[in-house]
Amino acid sequence: MTSKSQTEDENKIMAIPYGLIKTNYLHMKKVIYSKVLEIINLTESTYILRLEKNDFEFIAGQYLVLNVPVEYKAREYSIYSPEDAPYIDLLIKEVETGEISKELKYLKVGTKVELTGPFGFFVLRDNVKTKMNHFTFVATGTGISPFHSIILSNPGLDYEIIHGVRYGYEAYDSNDYPKDRYLLCTTRDHDGAYFGRVTQYFKEKGINKNTIYYICGNSGMISQLTDYLEQNGISPENIRTEVFF
Ligand SMILES: Cc1cc2nc3c(=O)[nH]c(=O)nc-3n(C[C@H](O)[C@H](O)[C@H](O)COP(=O)(O)OP(=O)(O)OC[C@H]3O[C@@H](n4cnc5c(N)ncnc54)[C@H](O)[C@@H]3O)c2cc1C
Repeated sequence: MTSKSQTEDENKIMAIPYGLIKTNYLHMKKVIYSKVLEIINLTESTYILRLEKNDFEFIAGQYLVLNVPVEYKAREYSIYSPEDAPYIDLLIKEVETGEISKELKYLKVGTKVELTGPFGFFVLRDNVKTKMNHFTFVATGTGISPFHSIILSNPGLDYEIIHGVRYGYEAYDSNDYPKDRYLLCTTRDHDGAYFGRVTQYFKEKGINKNTIYYICGNSGMISQLTDYLEQNGISPENIRTEVFF
């Protein structure tokens, strides 16, 4: 049985860090009240959640925390729309075993939501942009989201995207990129330009040493590819990553 003093001590221990985190969080990041404008289905399980932007400012590549009040269901999402769009788009895949991604799809137009952020450093730094570097953006699934925002926000960028999905129909909005800059890797059908995982693509096709790698998606792919790039002479400072799960 837990004694009273033990419980009080536990509460104190819990209260201090929570209070500090909450204070910093509220002071450092804005909470913007927003509403659902539209849900755009891209495939059976992937959709764009379009939200009022209000005065939510961000740098392309950053993410926000989406909270549906009352339900207290918060999750992180990279911002899919460009910096100057009059709305905020999030590209979301329903995760079968997940709780929130499936429910967000059925939010009614006009539902109130809270956007906290922006967060993250997965952005093009000014000194890198001005040197006119080449970028290699590697994504799996909805990991393409920050790249969509970065590319549409930075016209004239020299880049290529390597996008790994299961099926060809998951090449979300690939028409937004010039054909010669977007390469689709598929693992379950042959509708992409390359059949196999993105990690296999680099092993087979070789790696470009004169580029900056930005990699986003699941942690397994990111750690395998990062190891491979480093083993093949890419300096860690030229590899940037964003882990979704
Ligand atoms: C910085 C950051 C940015 C993110 N940006 C996006 C984004 O732009 N689009 C997006 O769809 N998700 C994104 N996510 C993941 C998102 O926060 C949720 O985890 C996801 O929507 C699943 O939520 P859930 O409540 O349904 O399932 P959860 O209970 O959160 O997760 C259940 C399981 O689903 C798996 N999973 C999580 N995300 C995905 C995914 N995207 N695809 C496949 N499997 C997944 C994981 O194995 C996880 O353990 C991001 C996560 C982080 C940390």
